[in-house]
Amino acid sequence: MEAVMPLSDGEFNAGLLGAVQALLTSPIREDVPGAKVTTFAIGGPLRAVVTVESTEELAQLLGLLSREGQRSLVLGNGSNLLIADDGVPAWVIKLGSGFKGITRDGARFEVFGAAPLMSFARKVSDDGFSGLEFAAGIPASLGGAVFMNAGAHGSEIGSRVHLVRGVMPDGTAREWRRDDLPWAYRHSGVPHGAIVTSVILDLVEGDRESIARSCSEHLAERRARQPLALPSAGSVFKNPSAARPAGMILEALGLKGAAVGGASISEMHANWIVNPRTEAKATDVLALIERCRERARDVERLELEPEVKVWR
Ligand code: FAD
Repeated sequence: MEAVMPLSDGEFNAGLLGAVQALLTSPIREDVPGAKVTTFAIGGPLRAVVTVESTEELAQLLGLLSREGQRSLVLGNGSNLLIADDGVPAWVIKLGSGFKGITRDGARFEVFGAAPLMSFARKVSDDGFSGLEFAAGIPASLGGAVFMNAGAHGSEIGSRVHLVRGVMPDGTAREWRRDDLPWAYRHSGVPHGAIVTSVILDLVEGDRESIARSCSEHLAERRARQPLALPSAGSVFKNPSAARPAGMILEALGLKGAAVGGASISEMHANWIVNPRTEAKATDVLALIERCRERARDVERLELEPEVKVWR
């Protein structure tokens, strides 16, 4: 299966720790277990987690790492990630509390990349702004949600975007208007390696009661259909089509309940792999993913494409 490819595969150079720390206000965290920073609760050590508190820190950091040929990855809320059991020998960049702000001008909101999507969606919905009802229950950061073009119930965040602000892998600042990006299902087209620092969203003033009703209905539907109490990364595969969602295909192939090691395909939803006892290895999940893909290929002549990102 295809993993997220690094822009640069330079070996992790621990000799740079001092120079990197000198650019930052927050301390670097070394050997952070992937299991602690992902909703899957799986994964070995992230060699260095570097928290940036401003766009300037981020630009300087990326500039240094790219000049040194170092591999960097950006971590949002870890809700769509599978981290390898051996960990990841890379610089993992995390947007800090300096990237949680929200500003408003009428129904236009600028939200920073580390802001939690769920609580932002709840706040604007409570305040009578429509457009993010679909996001109730998606445990993403705004940056991760934009990068993935997160969506549910027939809506996606991309359709609400006015402008995306980010920093390119070489440290230069960039902006993209919505039409500059090739939005598609679970794909924003934000260039590989660019980091989304903030997004401007256009919402619509609406009727508070119907917005609240819509949020509650979406949440009730999730609770009824998804194993929300168990560690997971949400849907594992993209839906081949709205008419034939991956869960329906995998259920028909008899894969509900299939298990490898500590990982199993949810009995509630066949497109969710869960880690019920938090004992699963990344290799267990990858083996289950391969089993699903093989069965879909053999029986349905269908290539299932993973939605979950794999870091090795
Ligand atoms: P991460 O998982 O941390 O990262 C995912 C990818 O985004 C990585 O490639 C990462 O490098 C990149 N990334 C993260 N932050 C940034 C940034 N600032 N700039 C650039 N790239 C970045 N998804 C849906 O679309 N719809 C759903 O309904 C849904 N329901 C879910 C329910 C549950 C219980 C769970 C666990 C997951 C669900 N997901 C759903 C999956 C997940 O929440 C989304 O894919 C989400 O957009 C990931 O955001 P994140 O911040 O957690 O990103």
